[in-house]
Amino acid sequence: MADKRILLHNATYIITMDGERRIIKDGSILVENDRIAAVDKTINTSQLEINKVINAKDMVVTPGFINGHCHISYAHATRGIFPDDLGNDYLVNVFRLQDSMSSKEEFLTSLLAITELLSYGTTTIVDPGSTKHVDLCMEAYEQTGVRLITGIQVTDRENPYRMNVYSHDEALQTTESFITQYNGALEGKLHAWAMPFSPEYVGGPLLKDLKLLSDQLEVGSTLHINNAGRFKSDGSKESPILALEEYGFVGSNVTLAHCVGLSDKEIALLASTGTAVITCPTNVVKNGGGYGKNFPLPDLLEANVRVGLGTDAGNNSNLLETNRSMYLAAVLIKDATGDTTQIPPEKALELATIDGAKALGLDSEIGSLEVGKKADIVMYDTLRPEWQSLFNPVNSLVYSADGRSVKTVIVDGNVVIEDYVPNFVDTEKLIREVQDIGTDMMKRNEVSFPQKWPIV
Ligand SMILES: [Zn+2]
Repeated sequence: MADKRILLHNATYIITMDGERRIIKDGSILVENDRIAAVDKTINTSQLEINKVINAKDMVVTPGFINGHCHISYAHATRGIFPDDLGNDYLVNVFRLQDSMSSKEEFLTSLLAITELLSYGTTTIVDPGSTKHVDLCMEAYEQTGVRLITGIQVTDRENPYRMNVYSHDEALQTTESFITQYNGALEGKLHAWAMPFSPEYVGGPLLKDLKLLSDQLEVGSTLHINNAGRFKSDGSKESPILALEEYGFVGSNVTLAHCVGLSDKEIALLASTGTAVITCPTNVVKNGGGYGKNFPLPDLLEANVRVGLGTDAGNNSNLLETNRSMYLAAVLIKDATGDTTQIPPEKALELATIDGAKALGLDSEIGSLEVGKKADIVMYDTLRPEWQSLFNPVNSLVYSADGRSVKTVIVDGNVVIEDYVPNFVDTEKLIREVQDIGTDMMKRNEVSFPQKWPIV
């Protein structure tokens, strides 16, 4: 088959995130099939057949952002219904609503979540295994062209969240068969991992065997630990992170989500075992978790722990843009410490791109714009008020811009968003369908929360 080539031509700035962190002014990128074939000031293409030329004038070009923790499957149908003061009833209601979803409904809500993420510049997502009808949702992943890490969320203890309680062996078998069936699917864009839910609801022996399984199958694993709410209520308990060492659930293929309230001892354990962390500042701030004082981002970075960004679910962060997590990581530590040298914009952008790729063990493939890497590319339109005036593209991207200016997105060498429009879905039709799903779900589950202001 003939090679397919896309030329991005004359970009105002290409923020490569390569080893030297070069920013190329007036640069071009040549994409050949699924990979980057050249990144330079000028690229000689006179001998090459180019299938598509994208004029990147007035564009800032970055690697696709990486969201290392984001439940994509259910939140869009009822996003924004929960009042701030719902407390512990919040998650119970989330899972009750999700439990009632049909496979078709979950397919459509997943499709809308991915549409939002791609439209605002996120090209790789970790969905931590909470998709119920994942076989059908594979069609949404294929349709959108997104790069995705997912799995089957397992627990082996009774829980208040209606999560399926597996026996030890069932949990292992379910995980193994999912990984065997799907890892490397969708032309390599899908990675299947082991996904125990959290140490509260997954016993040590199962954690231990899931880790052994992921080692054996050479895949990653992730679990929730110490999110904002738990830290506030159970901060005095024995450290669940230190307990993970006892079960062997640490190491270079383990990515822990949240990790609010880490102690020095826990940071040392993460560093010595090479365990990665995904931090979701959007979730912590909305839940009153005190991000700046309770998430020791500078200490983790100082200890060379791999850290990436996530956003958690569209119903507890409410926003899914990796860009917003990047902004919060950059400003909240400054705010808490009073030290403006903390988490400079360059580091924030690293967290959203190359550091996120490292945290997921995918940095040989994604996270920077370099020859040989996968062509996951985002083009920001700078002819917009929030981007002006433009002198320092990193400052502007982290502190001034957001996903609204994402004009064109390429994943794995395929254009998926072009001139602001997703080319894989009728967005308006999809939005109306998801609104109807939400209305029906709330009605049939008899879930509603009075709003404080009268809707007349
Ligand atoms: Zn989560």
